[in-house]
Amino acid sequence: MRVSPGDAVILCDDKTGEWLARVSKAGKRNVALIVEDHLREREQVPDFTLCAALLKKQNFDLVLEKATELGVRRIQPVLTRRCVADKLNPDRARTIVTEAAEQCARTALPEIAAPVRLETLLADWPEGRTLFFADEAGGDPAAQAFADCSKPAALLVGPEGGFEDAERTAIREHQDALAISLGPRILRGETAAIAATALWMGLAGDWNK
Ligand code: SAH
Repeated sequence: MRVSPGDAVILCDDKTGEWLARVSKAGKRNVALIVEDHLREREQVPDFTLCAALLKKQNFDLVLEKATELGVRRIQPVLTRRCVADKLNPDRARTIVTEAAEQCARTALPEIAAPVRLETLLADWPEGRTLFFADEAGGDPAAQAFADCSKPAALLVGPEGGFEDAERTAIREHQDALAISLGPRILRGETAAIAATALWMGLAGDWNK
């Protein structure tokens, strides 16, 4: 509604990168654009999956937004026994990550998978991907664990009420899981997800490129 003929517009399709276009016609319901130039290829994204337990809406929205800013490749919402929320609106989630990407001029969106139960996540775990398990009950110091791992990675973070003991045991017994500690303070789920993702990006992702 704000553009007029002749205005420049940046287009992004999450596949081919970023394009410069010029408005040729602007109406109330539609706009015609002429693509003029290919500005950038789609950016490379580190191979990191965030497996975050569903949280109350606003808190999970924050995780979606910050994970996009931080350059997560894939977001896998997880349903656990203590999850208060049990649904994620895919259109809404898509809007949040798209707006976050626009804000940061990113040319890649994280893929948002449909929520899965924890049991299913563990049973269908892809071979060769390390599952860092953020366990407030203790584990290897996260920084050390991230720096030492050269495999594709994923991070599992629990919901508001944490994991039940049986869930914690099942995760710890999984061959690709490695329990990590995010320090002596108990963080809220959204803080744990965002802080650990930032730490991984710094130590094993692309912050040093
Ligand atoms: N069990 C808790 C709080 C859960 S915090 C309670 O109700 O008291 C939510 C999630 O954040 C946890 O399941 C865990 O995955 C992660 N988390 C929070 N603090 C952490 C820490 N210091 N180390 C590792 N993971 C942490």
